[in-house]
Amino acid sequence: MLDQPIACVDVETTGTSPQYDRITEIGVVEMDPDGSVREWSTLVNPEARIPPFIEQLTGISNAMVEAAPTFSQVAEELQQRLAGRLFVAHNVRFDYAFIKNEFKRLETAFRADTLCTVRLSRRLYPQFYKHNLDSLIQRLGIQVEDRHRALADARVLAKFLKQLPHEHDATAINDAIRHVMAKPSLPTHIPEGLIDDIPDGPGVYLFYGDNDMPLYIGKSTGLRSRVLSHFSGDHRSTKELRISQQLKRVEWRETAGELGALLLEAKLIKQLQPIHNQRLRRENDLCAWQMLPAPQGGHMVTLKYAADIDFGRADNLYGMFTSQRKAVQTLRDLADAHRLCLIQLGIEKPSRAKATPCFAHQLKKCHGVCVGKEDPLRHDLRLAEALARLKLNAWPYASPIGIPEKHDGREEMHIVDRWSYLGTARDESEIVEILAGGAVAIFDLDTYKILVKHIKGRKVLPLA
Ligand SMILES: [Zn+2]
Repeated sequence: MLDQPIACVDVETTGTSPQYDRITEIGVVEMDPDGSVREWSTLVNPEARIPPFIEQLTGISNAMVEAAPTFSQVAEELQQRLAGRLFVAHNVRFDYAFIKNEFKRLETAFRADTLCTVRLSRRLYPQFYKHNLDSLIQRLGIQVEDRHRALADARVLAKFLKQLPHEHDATAINDAIRHVMAKPSLPTHIPEGLIDDIPDGPGVYLFYGDNDMPLYIGKSTGLRSRVLSHFSGDHRSTKELRISQQLKRVEWRETAGELGALLLEAKLIKQLQPIHNQRLRRENDLCAWQMLPAPQGGHMVTLKYAADIDFGRADNLYGMFTSQRKAVQTLRDLADAHRLCLIQLGIEKPSRAKATPCFAHQLKKCHGVCVGKEDPLRHDLRLAEALARLKLNAWPYASPIGIPEKHDGREEMHIVDRWSYLGTARDESEIVEILAGGAVAIFDLDTYKILVKHIKGRKVLPLA
């Protein structure tokens, strides 16, 4: 794929909007399949003021461009240099859009196949976290004199491309280029470029609609493919269709793995309440049965709410249930299946007459602990057996813990206390910050379920 005429391009501009801002400098490094290289660059009079902070960033001042040719004066030469070449740039959307727009002002059509070196770098070097030009320069171990000048920056891209065959075989390079250049087929109402830069690692994505209203939050171990899958295929549900019709902006947060993505997703859904995510549980109604000594001997159960006691600390809890109705129904079903006594359990009120059998015993379903036919301890044993599947895990640590996670060189530490997710740290100081932040551990069923499932067999660090 690199065996074709290539133009590494960089433009400097008066600002960031291709529509309103103008080009002040163009740098092009032409690379031919036979290995020959030609460099070309020119300052461009933008016919507009360069703001002071941009003068400072690029070193290109208003005075410098005053005598320079306008874009219309260099357009023809530029067009010839770029003709038939793969247009390569760092964050290519930016440079390509600026050049396309300058041509458009001259009522000239311009198009080229483009390749983004940010995305190519991300694809071929997933072990690195940063892929901006300075990171590339650092990785290539080169000195750049005129950083932020067009030709100097374009040369970096040429070096980057030349370096690739030394670090990857041809198949890997071609696959990566094909992947990066592949245009996803998106519904026409979705703005072009909306999802161009989404990496394909683990993380959480956020869809926003008009007025930046959160529409939907999801997680994946392959962000880009997952986001695309929302818009592709004929299996789209009404919900997916509505999401894609309302979509205006996509945001994403990379994580170091699935656990990080799951925890962040749960947290963000609670925080932002996107309209297309499943209705949130009312945490106030979260409840569980607690086994307690009964006055008549043996044990009974009482319903405890997450709002009232700390589920992360309490013991002997069985559940969890999202409503009292579900808790009672589950217990009744279990009592029925295991021939337990609802009077002993404290669910059915005994009649005033002493030693009246419970209703179930009259139907020969309860073994008769209510009328002294069964030892309460024996009933306890059967109760524990019936509830075993529902037993909640008490928080097994004496302190908050850190759960390390790693993906492609990205390392994170999820900080968890009493089944609550406090945050994710990337270094020692962030750990301290999160612990000192005094984040209140609020019990959350989704987080509890994620942690119970993922903590097993994993290395954790007590953070006393
Ligand atoms: Zn009974």
